[in-house]
Amino acid sequence: MKVEILTIGDELLLGFTVDTNSVFLARELAELGVEVVRRTTLPDTGSAIIDGVREALARTGAVITTGGLGPTSDDLTCEAVAAAFGVPLVRDNDVHAALESRWKNRGLPGEAPADFFRQALVPEGADILANPAGSAPGLWLENSRHEWLAVLPGVPREMRAIFHDSLRARIAVRAGPGAGVVRSRTLRTTGVPESLLAERLTDAADRLGPLSLSYLPGSSGVDLRVTARNLPSDEADRLLHDAMEWLRDRAGSDAYGENEADMAEAVLDLCRQRNFTLALAESCTGGMLGARLSAIPGASEVLLGGVIAYADQVKERQLGVSSESLISHGAVSREVAEEMASGARVRLSASIGVGITGVAGPGGGTESKPVGTVWIAADVLGQVLAELYRFQGSREEVRERSAHAALALIRRMLTR
Ligand code: AMP
Ligand code: MG
Repeated sequence: MKVEILTIGDELLLGFTVDTNSVFLARELAELGVEVVRRTTLPDTGSAIIDGVREALARTGAVITTGGLGPTSDDLTCEAVAAAFGVPLVRDNDVHAALESRWKNRGLPGEAPADFFRQALVPEGADILANPAGSAPGLWLENSRHEWLAVLPGVPREMRAIFHDSLRARIAVRAGPGAGVVRSRTLRTTGVPESLLAERLTDAADRLGPLSLSYLPGSSGVDLRVTARNLPSDEADRLLHDAMEWLRDRAGSDAYGENEADMAEAVLDLCRQRNFTLALAESCTGGMLGARLSAIPGASEVLLGGVIAYADQVKERQLGVSSESLISHGAVSREVAEEMASGARVRLSASIGVGITGVAGPGGGTESKPVGTVWIAADVLGQVLAELYRFQGSREEVRERSAHAALALIRRMLTR
């Protein structure tokens, strides 16, 4: 089965909103073995939507739209879709009643504005796809040639809810059980350049058979993604399982998790296994490391706290960094990073202390310490290790990479 996706909205064409809806739909449809053959973005203009729907239906006979379903004057999808199918808009009493109770339950004063109930006007003959997360319902239209059109709201949360609740099942029935799926699994690695990983995986083509392998370098390391295409579901799962075993074996301790795994979680797990606690001393990252760790549920068992030690006086008074180190080596130095790490560990009575100090830029760089120079130290029960990094990129990227490198350093000290 081939499907086209039409996303509707001036804000998408202007670039103010990133079109995450088609990304979501493309992934979900691939899981069902449905191929997305074209993605189009259209303005909030009646004629553009009518033409877009007709042309897409003529090509594939299976189309999903998102956007333009709300109660305001720029929401034209419903009318345009009715015109494209050559049917009038009629009031749906169930939707009307649902809108009434929805308005009442919001506890707003007064009556709903008349335009609010425009959302109960639907193309004649359309099936309603109930919206559990908002007011505008989704629609399903089918013509005599068995061409179908699914119409979803633009708000991502509502679009996803309708897809999961009702649209996915309808499409799965039409795609049939014989449809091959597209399915991926990802192994996340850190600290190894992709060219070195590739050297360890030169026999990938032989080992992976019909699966494809991609290298996805990002700020946290290189993700290795294996993908099965157009295979029966259970065969895809079996091949992916074997492929992951092989990849994990080759990546060794450079792999820290699968799919959406976060290194912060891997670090917390390692600490928890050893009953270790963590204390942080962050200068250029200004709390980013703490934010990453505290984002993981259960972090409180490990993370005690930290000091955002931006100014020298905070490094000295709160962490016990010596003024001699600050003067003779500078705030961005091995000595200061180490004293920050040990100071955090001792003063917060933790098993591990981490210190981060660097030049995030864009200003402040010197010849010997250019922008991107970052010293990171970890003190694990009194054993101290410091590393020098020269990160590329914007201020934000330098800060993100520093926080990530600190996690990687702790992980390395705990795994070897
Ligand atoms: P609409 O249903 O077109 O009125 O859109 C409602 C909200 O959903 C707006 O805030 C849009 O920015 C957002 N939205 C619409 N289409 C998309 C899309 N394709 N991806 C992500 N967000 C969207
Ligand atoms: Mg819109």
